[in-house]
Amino acid sequence: MTMAGTSRVLRHVKIETAIARRKCHHSSKHRIEKGENHLAIYEGEPKKRKNYCYACARKIIDLAMADLQQLDAALGPVLHNKSIGRN
Ligand SMILES: [Zn+2]
Repeated sequence: MTMAGTSRVLRHVKIETAIARRKCHHSSKHRIEKGENHLAIYEGEPKKRKNYCYACARKIIDLAMADLQQLDAALGPVLHNKSIGRN
C-alpha cells in the first residue's frame, strides 16, 4: 500500500542493466560488463550517476538494509501500528 505524498527516500537508487561496459565507482579494477545488472545511484545537482558492480552493490544494499532495520527498530512497533491506523 502506498500513501499519497509519502517521501520515497530511495528514489535516486536503481538497478540498471548496462548497455555498454561501465566502470565501478568504488574501484576502476571492477568491471560491469554489457548486459549485467548493477546499482546506479543518482547524486548531486545536476544528477550524476555512480555505477557499482554486483559485489559492491551487494555490500551497499546489505548496509542499507541494516540501516533501515535500525530505523525501523528506533521508530518502534507502537508508532508503526499507529501509522497503519484504524480510525
Ligand atoms: Zn565494484
